[in-house]
Amino acid sequence: MINFVLIPLMAPGHIIPMIDMAKLFAERGIIVTIVTTPLNAIRFSAVSIDTLPSYKLINNFFNAAKMLQKPLEQMLNGLKPAPSCIICDKHLSWTADLSNNLQIPRIIFDGMSCFTQLIMNNLFISKVHETASESEPFVVPSLPDRIEFTKLQLPDLLKPGSVVVKDFFEEVRATETLSYGVVVNSFEDLEQRYVDEFWKIRGGKVWCIGPLSLFNRENLDKAQRGNKASIDTDQCLRWLDSHEPDSVIYACLGSLSRLMPSQFIELALGLEASNYSFILVIHGGENTEEIEKWILEYGFDERIKERGLLIRGWAPQVLILSHSSVGGFLTHCGWNSTLEGICAGLPMITWPLFAEQFLNEKLVVQILGTGVRVGAEDVVDFTTQERSGMKVMKDEVKAAIDMVMDQGNQGCERREKAKALKEMAKRRITESADIIPLIEEPAQEPLAEDEDERVMENDDGSDMPQIQETE
Ligand code: UDP
Repeated sequence: MINFVLIPLMAPGHIIPMIDMAKLFAERGIIVTIVTTPLNAIRFSAVSIDTLPSYKLINNFFNAAKMLQKPLEQMLNGLKPAPSCIICDKHLSWTADLSNNLQIPRIIFDGMSCFTQLIMNNLFISKVHETASESEPFVVPSLPDRIEFTKLQLPDLLKPGSVVVKDFFEEVRATETLSYGVVVNSFEDLEQRYVDEFWKIRGGKVWCIGPLSLFNRENLDKAQRGNKASIDTDQCLRWLDSHEPDSVIYACLGSLSRLMPSQFIELALGLEASNYSFILVIHGGENTEEIEKWILEYGFDERIKERGLLIRGWAPQVLILSHSSVGGFLTHCGWNSTLEGICAGLPMITWPLFAEQFLNEKLVVQILGTGVRVGAEDVVDFTTQERSGMKVMKDEVKAAIDMVMDQGNQGCERREKAKALKEMAKRRITESADIIPLIEEPAQEPLAEDEDERVMENDDGSDMPQIQETE
C-alpha cells in the first residue's frame, strides 16, 4: 500500500491546494494522511495565518509550527501503513530533519508556478537585482522570454537587508535544495518552456500535478472549499443567475490581504464608477471597523445595491468564478487565485500586493496575454499591510475594468485567449492518465544518503522518485 503523508502550511493559499491534492491522490487509490492542527482539522482549512490577530505575530506562528516536529516524528514512526513519502510545504523547513530522521523521501510543494520558481532561482543565483536601483526595471537573466521587474516589485525574501522573516526564508531556501523533488500546482501547456527550464535545474524531479482546483468537481465541493462561506451559497447563485453571461466583475484580493482603508475606498469607488455589476469580497481584518465606517457614511451599500454584492468574510470563490455570468476577475494574483481564474476562462484585472504576486501578474499579462494591470508598482509590507509607494487610484481601477470588459478587438482577443486556456486546463485533468507519474512506478530502493545521488535517474532510466511501498 502506498501512503502519502501531506504536511501543509497552515494558511489558506497553501492548505487548500494540498487538500485538493489529497483528493487527486485518493482518486488514484492512494492512502493519504494529512497532518494539521486541531483548528484546521475542524475547518478543514480554517487556517491559522489568516486568523492571527496581527501579522506582526508571523514569527511566533512559524516557531509554533516548528514544535510539531517531535510529536509528528513519533506519530509517523507508528503509522500503518508506513509512510511512503512526505509531501510538505516548503515553508516548513523543519520537515527536512523529519524526513532525514525517518529516512522517508521528502517532496516539497511551494504553491508557485514554474515561471515564478525559475525567476526566483535565477535571481538568487545571479543577484542582478541587488545592484539595480529601486524603480528602474532590470532584466531577469537566462529566461525563455525577456522579463523585467523593478526591485520594488520583488518579494521580501529577495531583498537584502529586509528584516521581515529574513532568517526564516534563508532556512527555507537552504532546505529546499535538500528535497527529493517538487510537486507544482500547474500544467505543462500553460508554461511549457518554464517547466522545461525548471525541470533541468531540479534534475528532472519536478511534477506538475495541477490545476488542483479542478479536483473540486461538485458544486458542494466548490462551495465549501477552504472554509464555510460567509454568504448563503444559494443566495449567491441566485444573484449570479439574475445576471447576463460575462457581465459581472468578481473582485477578491485573496485570503491574507487586508487593504488599508484608504486603499479599499479607491477599489470600492473604482468598482462603482465602472458601472458594471460586481461582487466585492471584504477581508478587513484589523481594518474592518474603519472600512465599515466608510461604507456606512458614504452609503456604499445603498448606492450599489442594484448591481453590487458585498461578501464580508469567506467567499465561495471557485463556485463564483465558475458561474457563466462572471466576465472578469479582479485579483491580487496569488497563485491559487490566478490558476482558478485561468481554469474559469476569465480575463483578469491584476492587482498584486505582496510575496510573489508581481511575478504571477507578469505571467498573466505578458506571457498569457489575459490580464490588464491596475498599475500597482510596489509590494505591500506583509506585516503592516502598508505600501511605501503610491496608492492605486479609483480611475486606474475603472480603466483596467473597462479594458477587460471591452467588447472591441482587444477585449475579445483577451477573452478568446482566456477561454482557450480553460479548455487546456480541463483537458489536462480529463485526458491525462499520467497526471501523477510520481506514484506509478514506486521503486523499492531506500532513500539515497547523498543529495546528488537522489536527483540522479533511477536504474531503469526513469525519473520516478524512489518511493517505498509497504505491505
Ligand atoms: N479564497 C476563497 N474565498 C475567499 C478568499 C480566498 O475561497 O474569500 C481561496 C481562493 O479561492 C484561493 C485561496 O483562498 O484558493 C487563496 O490563495 P491565493 O494563492 O490566491 O492567495 P493568498 O490568500 O495565499 O494570498
